[in-house]
Amino acid sequence: MTTKLTVLGCGGSLGIPNVAGRHGNCDMSNPRNFRTRTSAWVAHNGKNFLIDTSPDMRSQLLRENLAGPRPDAVLYTHSHADHCHGIEELRAYYWSNETQVDIYAHPFHMADLKKRFDYLFYGSGNQDLYRPILRPHEIGQGKLSVAGEEIAVIEMTHGDMPCLGYRIGAVAWTTDYKAISPAGLAALAGIKVWFTAVADWDVPHPSHAILPEVLDLCEQLGNPRTYLIHLNPRFDYAKLDAMTPPHVTPAHDGLIVELE
Ligand SMILES: [Zn+2]
Ligand SMILES: [Zn+2]
Repeated sequence: MTTKLTVLGCGGSLGIPNVAGRHGNCDMSNPRNFRTRTSAWVAHNGKNFLIDTSPDMRSQLLRENLAGPRPDAVLYTHSHADHCHGIEELRAYYWSNETQVDIYAHPFHMADLKKRFDYLFYGSGNQDLYRPILRPHEIGQGKLSVAGEEIAVIEMTHGDMPCLGYRIGAVAWTTDYKAISPAGLAALAGIKVWFTAVADWDVPHPSHAILPEVLDLCEQLGNPRTYLIHLNPRFDYAKLDAMTPPHVTPAHDGLIVELE
């Protein structure tokens, strides 16, 4: 079994720096503080999975030399703009072989995506030009079989909405959560590498876990190799690295983790 995860982006919702040039506490002389929006590409046993379609998707895939292979599945965590507004880029895969792209999301978020991007699901106007390019699959907590591979879907809460995490092989990606369900935590047992969002050093957040909560969960999971994602401008790379235990490290755009 081989799993190779490429961090396409590990930034918070506006990226760092944002379009107003703000970078908060981040020292921009360190290239690891340049962060695009949170998303990952996972190559697993010869199959490809894309977690979220960030607004930076096209530039992320070009940067990582991943423009080309078609994902066997697009796995959405939720429909917040920073995780899905690159959805239109999926047209490129449709037009390469005129086959609909399989996307997976929680019903709550699939409904939201259908409302916002109806033309990608149903086509519009001249059906020869604007065809439905997506094939939607609604999912929740449990096991998902995609392209012959089993993926664990991890249900979490994110403020007043659900959010999904994914475990592929021994690697798990959980972004944008306040709490992970007991069944979700059970599904994470035995992971070797954990990518997890963190929202603040110590100020409680209504919809996101903060550093002490993440470190608690990490301990519950047996302290797997942990990379922090969805990093906002509060978190300078070097400072966060210095303030976390040795098995916990900030991620950076372009980070690659490979497991045999
Ligand atoms: Zn987010
Ligand atoms: Zn979110």
